[in-house]
Amino acid sequence: MNEHLQLSEEIMKKSLQEDEKIFEKEKLHVCTYEDCNSVFQTQAEWEEHARMHAVQRPFGCRYCDKAFKTSGDLSKHSAIHN
Ligand SMILES: [Zn+2]
Ligand SMILES: [Zn+2]
Repeated sequence: MNEHLQLSEEIMKKSLQEDEKIFEKEKLHVCTYEDCNSVFQTQAEWEEHARMHAVQRPFGCRYCDKAFKTSGDLSKHSAIHN
């Protein structure tokens, strides 16, 4: 009787651990923005964060990949391409 009880407890523990592993894999969302390796637990958090990148640096350089917070920063940077 006791042995049987222990066995089913072990099976329960094992399947719980495997559930956690699957859950962990699914919950990670990594930001792919350049120089940012932030990791988020939900897609919603990640999307919010990605929006922040676009809002923070709306002034993109037309000559290279850099982007800036203000048009002043962008025009200062543009001088290096002249
Ligand atoms: Zn990011
Ligand atoms: Zn540039």
